[in-house]
Amino acid sequence: MSNKPSVAGLANVLYIDLTNETSKVVERQDLHDKYLGGTGVATMLMHEEFKEGTDALDPESPIVLSIGPLSGIFPCCTKVVAMFRSPLTGEFGESHAGGRLAMAMRFAGYSSIVITGRAKRPVYLSIYNNDIRFKDASSIWGLSSTTNIGKILRNVEPSAGKRSIIRIGTAGENRIRYANVNVDTYRHFGRLGLGAVFGAKNLKAIVISGDGEIEVPSKSAYSKIYKEIFTNIVETDLMEKYHNLGTTENILPLNELSGLPTRNLQQTFFEYAETISGENFADNYLVRKISCAHCPIGCIHIAMLKTSFGPSHEYEVKHISYDYELVYALGTNLGILTPEGVLELIDRCEQYGVDIISIGVVLAWATEMSMQKRSTTEETKGVLLKWGDVKNYLRAIDLIVESPNEFYSALAKGVVFASKKYGGEDFAIHAGGLEIPGYHTGVGNLVGLTVGVRHSHLDNGGYSIDQKAFKNNLSDEEIVDMLIFEDDIRGVLTSLAICLFARGIYTYDAIIEALATIGIERSEEELIELGRDIFMKKYELKRKFGFDLDDVTFPSRFFETASTNGMIDEARVQNVLSMYKKRRWGADRT
Ligand code: SF4
Repeated sequence: MSNKPSVAGLANVLYIDLTNETSKVVERQDLHDKYLGGTGVATMLMHEEFKEGTDALDPESPIVLSIGPLSGIFPCCTKVVAMFRSPLTGEFGESHAGGRLAMAMRFAGYSSIVITGRAKRPVYLSIYNNDIRFKDASSIWGLSSTTNIGKILRNVEPSAGKRSIIRIGTAGENRIRYANVNVDTYRHFGRLGLGAVFGAKNLKAIVISGDGEIEVPSKSAYSKIYKEIFTNIVETDLMEKYHNLGTTENILPLNELSGLPTRNLQQTFFEYAETISGENFADNYLVRKISCAHCPIGCIHIAMLKTSFGPSHEYEVKHISYDYELVYALGTNLGILTPEGVLELIDRCEQYGVDIISIGVVLAWATEMSMQKRSTTEETKGVLLKWGDVKNYLRAIDLIVESPNEFYSALAKGVVFASKKYGGEDFAIHAGGLEIPGYHTGVGNLVGLTVGVRHSHLDNGGYSIDQKAFKNNLSDEEIVDMLIFEDDIRGVLTSLAICLFARGIYTYDAIIEALATIGIERSEEELIELGRDIFMKKYELKRKFGFDLDDVTFPSRFFETASTNGMIDEARVQNVLSMYKKRRWGADRT
């Protein structure tokens, strides 16, 4: 096994200290030899940098951004992994974003960036090759629109076309616990509150670019496997659905299968699903599709929203990206009946920079509290939420970000915090403390969200296991096997920072061949072992953050609403969880 990668800059870690405004670059060949990059290297850097007991919003709480060895070299290796302690759940924070960031980091010469400390004033980082500057961001701190912040930085920073601009909005500045980081125009580090960690560090934005070159040592082998991968992406149906309707293609089938959370998961079937389906968005609102840098798919669907803003026929036209999770969170789960309503809500969240899944679930919980008259007019500042009421939801989003009183401050801390304080825990729909994504498909999904390192449907795709179970019954053992298989293979894919939509393309064979072209030799067995090792190392971090699978509880709503596979039996969920723990750790505990 040759461990010496030959592509320059593959193992360079840029360490940024915001408190002292200093930086240094260290070649961490040791980490990259063993963990390749992405989640593998980020996890190990977190182990090194995180000091036990450090709060998520403490200045010393580290942020790690990592790309993989194939980033910039092979198609769809477009993601950057962010790792941090989550201010929302208090435990493991991991989020992935596409856009141009991975490419920009590669050309600037960095495999990872580690950020610690807190700047004395609002700053943004300007990184151009090895020129690292800490620039005053006072003039853009407090601006109400993330789009405008991007426009301003585009005007004052060099490298148009090659740079990546990531930034927070007022939600991050105000440390809303599920604030996100906007990446370029339509991508995000969406989940688990990285935006609040930026805000706590007085870090408004990072602009990064470079003009490094990538020399691939084995050109003919590279051309061969590149062509094979590219052909599989564009000429087979493996990724076709992501380009066509995009992920909103899932709305109607999931609705049909009774797996689409609706009105705070009081039901799993939305009577008006046709109106906000991927088909209707595509036919009447879609204006273009775009891609992350170095991806030929173009799964990012952009809709046009034309709104009237004054007399004399004055209109404003906005371009807003939409996907399945957003249409669930600000659509079905709030009972919104029109695409315009969904787009308006998405846009408002986008401008503030908040995680749309989390805020959608928080609003849905607040709606039930309001309709059951369990919140007072004084608490809600007169905003009476009810299903489908776009105007009041827009106002509630404003108030959450402003947090003018205790009630809205609680909403800004997430559904677990708010329901512990005000009641309604039985319908606070979260798994492991994180507001749930748009699936209520059965045991696979529920256990998958619970055991997944970031409590995301992307950890192990439990919802898709349930769809298989719907067709052919699966035993509990089979569900556990499939969850573990997915957890581990996704550890390999994310250590390479490959877009998970391309998971059907990057088989072990393709990965092995691609890595070999840049001088990294790995066998399938070694990759499988790597995925397992990364999972275990992440769980060690989770334990450091205070997570224990034995302490997990479920809101009763999960067991009161029929899923794709019928009513979910809590005893069965506990049984599958316990089997999972035994399989993973050899005992009925983590
Ligand atoms: S499939 Fe979509 S998310 Fe994935 S890399 Fe391509 S454009 Fe980006």
